Amino acid sequence: MHQDLERKLVSASDIQARVAEMGREIARDYAGKDLLLVGILKGSTIFMADLARQIDIPVAMDYMAVSSYGLSTTSSGVVRILKDLEESIGGRHVLIVEDIVDTGLTLNYLVESLRTRGPVTVKVCVLLDKFERRKVDVEVDYLGFLIPDEFAVGYGLDYRERYRNLADIWVLKPEVYTKQGE
Ligand code: 5GP
Repeated sequence: MHQDLERKLVSASDIQARVAEMGREIARDYAGKDLLLVGILKGSTIFMADLARQIDIPVAMDYMAVSSYGLSTTSSGVVRILKDLEESIGGRHVLIVEDIVDTGLTLNYLVESLRTRGPVTVKVCVLLDKFERRKVDVEVDYLGFLIPDEFAVGYGLDYRERYRNLADIWVLKPEVYTKQGE
């Protein structure tokens, strides 16, 4: 597995420290409110599990799956809901938990779509921001790290379903995805 990795982008210990800070901030901001964390499958699962345990107030957790890149590393711009929420969000505070924002298309679609369902607030918590590639404006309320325009894997992020189980976040060697095709 490690022969496919170019260099470490964010270490596991830096991730844990930042996630703890984010959790404390979220707990402060949502104290006394009905908070629903909405994790976006599958990339956010590891981040969501760590983040939720750093939020020291009662929270509910639910998940959505959307199609974004499919098997490719470039965005098609088409977003489709593959799995919807089980919880109803009317009158509640929703916090979308996502692994990475790149063009912004996925989050933009999700925020707009959840806002039509009558929640009190919809906010966004993202671990990584590839800000150089943004195509549409998305307000990120809680951010872990800004990263350069390179393909990241690990800590939940995959390439063709692999590397999610790495504890650190790495840059994948470009030859790995050019060799195998997009
Ligand atoms: P956006 O709609 O903002 O362009 O893309 C967001 C989605 O694209 C993320 O949820 C993630 O699935 C995927 N993505 C974007 N950049 C990367 C990256 O560097 N590594 C991985 N593994 N996925 C990425």
